[in-house]
Amino acid sequence: MVSVLPDGDLGLIHPQSESTPPASLPRIIRQLERRGIQTPVLLRVSSFLERGIRTLNESFNQAIERTGYKGTYRGVFPIKVNQQAHVVQRIVEFGRPYGYGLEAGSKPELVIALSRSLAKDALIVCNGVKDDEFIRLAILSRKLGFNTVIVLESPKEVDTVIAAAKDLGLDPLLGVRIKLTNQISGAWAASSGDRSTFGMNSDQLVTAIDRLREAGLLHCLKLQHSHLGSQIPDVNDVRRAVNEACRYFTELTGEGVPLSHLDLGGGLGIDYTGEMKANDNSVNYTVDEYCLNVVETVRYAMDEAGLPHPTLVTESGRAVVAHSSLLVFNVLEATFFEVETAPEPEPDDHHLLSDLRAIESYIEPMRLQECINDAQYYRDELRALFRRGYVGLRQVARGERIYLRILSRIKRVAHESESTSEIDAQLEKIADIYHCNFSLFQSLPDVWAINQIHPVVPLQRLNEEPDRRAVLTDITCDSDGKIGRFILADGISPSLPVHTIDDDSSYYIGVLFVGAYQETLGDLHNLFGDTNVATIDLREDGGFDLLQEVEGDTISEVLSYVEYDPRDLIDDFRKLVETAISEDRLSVSDRKTLIAAYRDSMNGYTYYESH
Ligand SMILES: *Cc1c(COP(=O)(O)O)cnc(C)c1O
Repeated sequence: MVSVLPDGDLGLIHPQSESTPPASLPRIIRQLERRGIQTPVLLRVSSFLERGIRTLNESFNQAIERTGYKGTYRGVFPIKVNQQAHVVQRIVEFGRPYGYGLEAGSKPELVIALSRSLAKDALIVCNGVKDDEFIRLAILSRKLGFNTVIVLESPKEVDTVIAAAKDLGLDPLLGVRIKLTNQISGAWAASSGDRSTFGMNSDQLVTAIDRLREAGLLHCLKLQHSHLGSQIPDVNDVRRAVNEACRYFTELTGEGVPLSHLDLGGGLGIDYTGEMKANDNSVNYTVDEYCLNVVETVRYAMDEAGLPHPTLVTESGRAVVAHSSLLVFNVLEATFFEVETAPEPEPDDHHLLSDLRAIESYIEPMRLQECINDAQYYRDELRALFRRGYVGLRQVARGERIYLRILSRIKRVAHESESTSEIDAQLEKIADIYHCNFSLFQSLPDVWAINQIHPVVPLQRLNEEPDRRAVLTDITCDSDGKIGRFILADGISPSLPVHTIDDDSSYYIGVLFVGAYQETLGDLHNLFGDTNVATIDLREDGGFDLLQEVEGDTISEVLSYVEYDPRDLIDDFRKLVETAISEDRLSVSDRKTLIAAYRDSMNGYTYYESH
């Protein structure tokens, strides 16, 4: 996906042409900036999205071929994973050759699905709680040729569907959602098992079948659905669940239900950390392996039961879109906690300053903890004296600087001498802070909410040894607005290796794999709005085409989201200005400047703008 270019830039690898030189990300960002698209920017790489869809569909097709499976694969993209119009449109286009469809979990998502021109044999699978309006629209859409499947989630929904179908005089296309008893591991364990929200248990299922039979609609029930939750870490959980799903399929077929489609939901995970392990941010399998396991398991089960192989459906969302976007922001400022030079001694220095300074003479691998303790003690004593008025501001400031200098020295020795993890943990507290131009709450909500780890990487100077370690803070006024867990080659670290920034050139950082879930879960903390978005396509000659740009929210847009009327705000501000003029507090020429400044701000980007 990405690789380091000889000049140290991070480059995007063309997914289909190995000989193409990777496209430099800093160059892409600079070219976007020249066109007025500033960072933070969400970069969607169309070629990566296409690859996601191709990989999933072709992996299933290959698994089908390899195992001699007689059915086909008809995937659907769950709209909730990325509902953005431009993304869904591209998914529909790239998916058309594969008969790829859409999954709608709500009325608005069904409204989106019914406005797209899908392949003739593509499915629209409707999950979630459905009212009469939702169900009627789904049934009526079949008149337009859509294969809209209403997945029955509860016995109550069965009744609503029976009534609507009778009233409309039309046969619906039905599915049934079954709660499997096998529970998966990982962050979404609660989406599976007895206590999960959606789907019917065996008792409800039998009731539903009986009611459909009574109503003369059992012949409409074609699809069996189960969703295990997202980001399933362990492929053996998938196998067990698919096996259980097949048991239900066999039993229902035995009951006379004419099932033809087996839908296994989402859950195909992404290896965010690259560890290839069954934990919250990684998975122990590849897409190929997942597909092969699913197809093989279904084939054995169906052969054993003597049933024809059903059409396989999955609703993999994350695995299709996560890789296709990255968030790029610039570092605005750094607070360095590692200092190279200490202030020179002065005659009237308090003795605590000399005590601090003296630690330097005994920093050695076996005495690191002692040095940390001493530095901490003298610094705290100095602060206490300051609070009581015994030392002045300049003395305490010099002391803080010497303290940081000592800790930086300790850190260097610790790095060179393979120190213990306790010492490392104490020293991590003085990692530098890089203040970055983005909002965690708007652009990376899962990092905040569920400790999601995304690969984070500086986009330039990767041919230079990083000389600092930093945590990244955002520009919201919230201490939670920071990234403090990074995946490095040797595991998870609380700080990221970075370079010392200079004032002359921008330092960009990229957060990868943000195409799934992050875009619409974000909120308006501190009223930071949507970022700019640019969609690019990688060209075979190593360049890129800008397919689309969407400007991020302006300040007046975010204000109207929280019910302010921008025109009223300008009027109110104008009144304050007029009053100040009439009371001689402001000149008439100030009036123009003030109103122009207010108006310009209203039209500005909510993020830090560098001109
Ligand atoms: C969220 C969801 C999905 C998508 O899951 P991924 O883990 O993104 O593949 C699929 N089906 C249903 C019913 C869902 O709720």
